Amino acid sequence: MEVSSYMGLATLIFVITMFVVPQHSQHFRSRGSVDKNKALVEHLQYYGIIKSGKVAEVMDVIDRGEFAPSGYPAYDDSPMPIGYNATISAPHMHATCLQLLEEHLQPGMRALDVGSGTGYLTACFAIMVGAQGLVVGVEHIPQLVALSIENINKSSAAAFLKEGSLSIKLADGQLGWPESAPYDAIHVGAAAREIPQSLIDQLKPGGRMVIPVGDFFQDLKVVDKNLDGSVSIRSEMSVRYVPLTSREAQLS
Ligand code: SAH
Repeated sequence: MEVSSYMGLATLIFVITMFVVPQHSQHFRSRGSVDKNKALVEHLQYYGIIKSGKVAEVMDVIDRGEFAPSGYPAYDDSPMPIGYNATISAPHMHATCLQLLEEHLQPGMRALDVGSGTGYLTACFAIMVGAQGLVVGVEHIPQLVALSIENINKSSAAAFLKEGSLSIKLADGQLGWPESAPYDAIHVGAAAREIPQSLIDQLKPGGRMVIPVGDFFQDLKVVDKNLDGSVSIRSEMSVRYVPLTSREAQLS
């Protein structure tokens, strides 16, 4: 091929790629971020923290890089500061909570994410319950509500936010979000001194809550509401979360 026609062909391919090939999604994930996120998911599978195909799939689809603070190694398995004395939880904690709640995040179910922070888990829940389900994130720092909406809009869960099956509320999460109760799944991303009664009340019979409880020494508690309305509580593991508290106490 002559150089001039080669150049012409190259230009044509460039134009087709840039302007004609349809953009299927609004968000753009670079090859590098897809690979790094995949490697993180494989690492968590290798160590047995991700046990199911469903959790691997959702953590593949929701790219942690779209939620982690800039300037930090987004795909490392550690918590990272997001300002306002809060952190994005470590990937192994996100994976653990998704595994514990998987059966309660089936398509069409309802989930509440208290202390939704960056919105990472809230977005994962939305993917799991789908458009027929409902997910409410409750966060009490206005700037984090805004940040999480920005993050979710970059992610694969953006459509759920737009269509209304996913929403983030600015409120005190200790009170839950009674308007959309009862929930099949409740996740609390900050450590409570005691399990708030209002959250137990908002759990559906057959539903499950995962909540860190304690002060310095904390346990991740799994709270199951039985079909007769009674409650069973067990400790899953020792953890370290920021406190579930008032806005004033958190910022001081
Ligand atoms: N799962 C989130 C965790 C963020 S850290 C993530 O990985 O991004 C815990 C969050 O709980 C913080 O964003 C903090 O602001 C929030 N929080 C603490 N107490 C709260 C309360 N009473 N009501 C609502 N949110 C609260």
